Amino acid sequence: MHGLIGLGLMLLSVLPVSEPTLKRFEYTETHMGSPFHLVLYTGDEGTASRAAKAAFVRIAALDLALSDYNPESELMRLCEKAGGPPVPVSADLYDALDGSLKMAKASGGAFDPTVAPVVRLWRRARRDRKLPDPDTLAKALSLVDHSKLVLDPTNKTAQLTDRGMKLDLGGIAKGLASQAAIDALKKLGVDRALVAGAGDIVVSGPPPRSDGWIIAVTPLGPEETTNPLRLSLVNCSISTSGDAEQFVEIAGKRYGHIVDPKTGIGVVERAGVTIVANNGAIADSLATAAFVLGTEKGLELVEKTPGASAIFARKIGDRLEVKRTAKFDQLRKASGTTSDATLGPG
Ligand code: ADP
Ligand code: MG
Repeated sequence: MHGLIGLGLMLLSVLPVSEPTLKRFEYTETHMGSPFHLVLYTGDEGTASRAAKAAFVRIAALDLALSDYNPESELMRLCEKAGGPPVPVSADLYDALDGSLKMAKASGGAFDPTVAPVVRLWRRARRDRKLPDPDTLAKALSLVDHSKLVLDPTNKTAQLTDRGMKLDLGGIAKGLASQAAIDALKKLGVDRALVAGAGDIVVSGPPPRSDGWIIAVTPLGPEETTNPLRLSLVNCSISTSGDAEQFVEIAGKRYGHIVDPKTGIGVVERAGVTIVANNGAIADSLATAAFVLGTEKGLELVEKTPGASAIFARKIGDRLEVKRTAKFDQLRKASGTTSDATLGPG
C-alpha cells in the first residue's frame, strides 16, 4: 500500500509543469577575429543577458589563451619557449592542446597543431599572391611534427621539443569556444541555445514548440545556397571546412587556407566537408582533418569517430559528387525553407 502511494507521488512530481513563455534573445560579439552569434530562449531578459555575458566571458578567455594572432596570448608565450623544458599551462590551453593532439593521432597527422610555420607562409602567399620560396617552405615543413608536442597530464605542462616550432589552433579553437559558451549558458539554466562561432555551431535543447534548430548545410559555399540541405539538430555540434572562400589563385592554380602537413601545400580541391559530432572541438578539428584527408579516407575517419557523421561534397569538373556516412542520413531532415543558421566554409 505504502509502495503504491509512493509511486503515485512520484508520478505526480514528474508531470510536466507548464513552461513559462520563452522569448528569443540574440547577441553578437567579435572574438578570435570572427563574429560569435548567440541565440537563446529564456523567460526574461535579465537571465538572458546575464547568461550571454557569461558565455562571452568564456569565449574571450579562450581567445586570450589560444589565439596565434595575439603575441600576448598564452599560446604564443608557450611557442616562444620551444626547444626548452616543459611549461605549465592553464586548463583551457591544456585541454585545447590535448584535443588537438588526439585528433592529430586519430587522423594520422592530417590535423596537426604544429603546422603553424607552414600556415604562416601560405598566409603571406595569399596576401602577396606569390608562392612561398621552396627552400623556405621545406625548412618550415621540417618543423611540423605533432609527436614533438609533449603533454604531461599529471603536471599539466606542455613542451615543444625543437626550437622554432610553432602552434596554430585555428582548426579547433572556434568549435571549442562555441562549446564552452553553450556549457556556460547551461550552467546558468539556459538550455535552449545556439552558438555560432563563424561556421562552428553548437546547439543545446530545441527552440520552444520545435524538434530542433534548423541548420542549412552548404559544404561547398554560397554557390549551393539556392537549395541547401536542412537539418534539424539538438544537443550536438556542426562544423564545415572547405576552400570555397579562403583561397588564392596563382598561375591558374588554387591554394586554400588548410594545409596538408605531409606536403606543406594548401589543399587545392574544390571541396567541402560538414561534420556533426557530440562536441564542438571534435566537430571543428574533425572537419579540418577530413578535408585534408579527402573523401575516401575522410569517410573512414568519421565512421570510426564515436557519435560523428559527415557529408562530403566536391566538384569534379562540372560534376558535383556528394557522399555521406550512414549515420548522416539518420539525422532528421527538416522541412520548410527557413533556417536558424546557414553553415558553409568559414
Ligand atoms: P575555418 O577556420 O576557416 O573555419 P578550419 O576549422 O578548417 O576552417 O580551420 C582552418 C585553420 O586551421 C587554418 O586557417 C589554419 O589556421 C589551421 N590549419 C590549416 N591546416 C591545418 C591542419 N592540417 N591541421 C590543423 N590546423 C590547420
Ligand atoms: Mg576546423
